[in-house]
Amino acid sequence: MKSEYGFYMQQQNALKASGNGRFFTDQESRYTEPFQIYGNLYYVGDSWVCVHLVDTGDGLLMFDAGNCGAQAMLVYSIWKAGFDPADVKWIILSHGHMDHFGAANFFKRMFGTKIYLSEPDAKMFREHPEQSMVQISGNCMDELFEPDVEIHDGERLKFGSTEIQFYLVPGHTEGCIACFFDVTDGKEKKRVGYYGGFGFNTLQKDFLMEIGDMTFEMRRKYLNSLKKVRDEEVELFMGNHTANVDLLAKRKYMQEHPDKNPFLDSQAWKEYLDEKYEELLQLMNDPRQN
Ligand SMILES: [Zn+2]
Repeated sequence: MKSEYGFYMQQQNALKASGNGRFFTDQESRYTEPFQIYGNLYYVGDSWVCVHLVDTGDGLLMFDAGNCGAQAMLVYSIWKAGFDPADVKWIILSHGHMDHFGAANFFKRMFGTKIYLSEPDAKMFREHPEQSMVQISGNCMDELFEPDVEIHDGERLKFGSTEIQFYLVPGHTEGCIACFFDVTDGKEKKRVGYYGGFGFNTLQKDFLMEIGDMTFEMRRKYLNSLKKVRDEEVELFMGNHTANVDLLAKRKYMQEHPDKNPFLDSQAWKEYLDEKYEELLQLMNDPRQN
């Protein structure tokens, strides 16, 4: 038995030492106290990967399901935020990468939670499961699953009292979603904008060549996606990773200034999408990337 545990630890240590492996181990080191962002919108993610909870009045709607290996931490965060994890009726996945669907399968099995994933990323699960990157997580809790509902471009779906407008914004993956909906504090409504994946890791030359995109079509798709949703009216920009919205700094500010809410900012969405647009053009003009 001892030697088997030693073998396991050897694997874990090798994973931590390997490039991105450290992001998929020691999840508790990224624990972040959950908090109310605005009205019926709560944050229950960690310091790196976002998870948001919307209290729809008829069950909880969760955006993403945390990093792989972070299932227990997410369940704990939901309790800590004052909710019962068994009330999570729906999970909307931003895209099909394993740092976002960590607890999805657990919720599906445990509570019968319905999982929503875009049609292109559901296809990726079936035809190219390796592109979900689940195999590098090194965590036995992780496995792919059949989503219950596939999301299509332009669809409008209802979750309790919350109605969501969906668009597909291919780029980071073929099936990244963007969506728009209202949250409320009971008196006022604010329009949320969510963009489900900004990372350029999947736009690097080596990555694109490996998946057979020899003309780097995905980069042009990404630019078009940013343009497609840039002019949407957004009063509250909901991040996919904490860095997108400087979430930890905003949370700290809110604690120090309880009468202010830095998440309410009608420019943040446009500014960040413009920033990404410029960054991507730079990458496309980089001779090492061509
Ligand atoms: Zn991703």
